[in-house]
Amino acid sequence: MRRRTYLRSTGAALFGLGAAGAASADESGDRRGTYRPGGPRQGSERSINLNAFHTNEQLTKALRKLDGRSDRIRLAQIGESADAGDPIWEVTVGEGDTNVHLITQIHGDEAVGTEVALKVLKDLADGGSSRIERILDELTLTVIPRVNPDGAMYEYDVDDDGRDEWVGRRTNTQAWEEGDSRYEPYYHYASPEGTEPGYDMNRDFNIRPPSEFDPRTDDREEWWTVDGDEAFLDMPYEGYELGSSGLRLAPEVRAVTESYLRADPDFAITHHHQSGGYLVPDSDDGNEPPKQTIMSVMAAYGPAYRDRAPYEDPDLPVERVVNPFIDDETSARSLRMNALVADALAERGDSVFDSITRYGYGPLWGSYLDSLTPHTDAPGMLYEVSYQTGDIGQKALGRMMEATKVGFWETFDALAEGTLDEVDEERYFDVPLHGEPISARR
Ligand SMILES: [Zn+2]
Repeated sequence: MRRRTYLRSTGAALFGLGAAGAASADESGDRRGTYRPGGPRQGSERSINLNAFHTNEQLTKALRKLDGRSDRIRLAQIGESADAGDPIWEVTVGEGDTNVHLITQIHGDEAVGTEVALKVLKDLADGGSSRIERILDELTLTVIPRVNPDGAMYEYDVDDDGRDEWVGRRTNTQAWEEGDSRYEPYYHYASPEGTEPGYDMNRDFNIRPPSEFDPRTDDREEWWTVDGDEAFLDMPYEGYELGSSGLRLAPEVRAVTESYLRADPDFAITHHHQSGGYLVPDSDDGNEPPKQTIMSVMAAYGPAYRDRAPYEDPDLPVERVVNPFIDDETSARSLRMNALVADALAERGDSVFDSITRYGYGPLWGSYLDSLTPHTDAPGMLYEVSYQTGDIGQKALGRMMEATKVGFWETFDALAEGTLDEVDEERYFDVPLHGEPISARR
């Protein structure tokens, strides 16, 4: 790719944004020998190999092929990436009344969801089992596999050998210029340092729909909080103050927003990776070596479950603790959807998969789930498999793909069979919050 190459100042860049992970990368390396076999394993810089993943070109080819051979698949280009102009694809499959919206890889270095989505789409396109027939009859799936093509393909000189390597990164690649918004928002930055800047696109969503509001031009000076060189849009909305709202400056985010509103989903799913790895809580207490979590799940929910929210503080306004626009029933269904997946993996009786944890929910007003799901009363689910794509070995990759695949199919089955409401929503809170980051430990 024709990108300027800068020398990287530290080894920290590999570990994405996780400051703790970056600062203590060497420590985690020291611990490698004590990891449980089969757990998510952190690779060394030298072991990075993204060949398991589709390039943008290969993804386009694969989707076109699928579209060409199956009447079940509808493929549409809904936008293009800010820098390279690579297509953002939307794939629709199924004819059912229950609409599911699924996005993957909004962070470019989080590729597992895209690879699994592609496999699931292939099965739905080709399969003839009664399970697949039922899903196609009952559901309409709208999938955006790879929201962030620029980040997915990002190359820079990770090992200072004078050549750019394909590593991928979190943000898209897009300059901020005077006039794009009143202030350059806090989630626009260059990472790794010295590379071209871009947006963390899961901070760029805004709850006001595009038809009603263009946050680039319709904001007000008094909505902004400028703290040193960081600026936050703390936007008032329906009597609440939505701190750190997004501005919808990335074309990719505008495309996802429009896709979501068009699809009018009953359920919304977004797939991520965690920076670094985390332990199952208390697993180092007489349970050595400590057990790593292979995946965390997270439900978005409203005031009905405020007392269970990890960041609950009675002095805080509700919109800092939970999402006040998610009603009680939608909240319960969101908890059920997440509990279903955690339980399904635990029931496999395999200790690697029986390590699902919960990612502590607090509203993130620039995110896909918190900004979009209130518009359609859609229960939301977030997947976070361990490590960024540049940091994992092939065996761990296979297990993370398997955990994701089981999760997607369990969810689609339950929605197609109408059994989701049989899940006890309280099970969600039995899933432990993830424990310490591995890389912060000695
Ligand atoms: Zn992510």
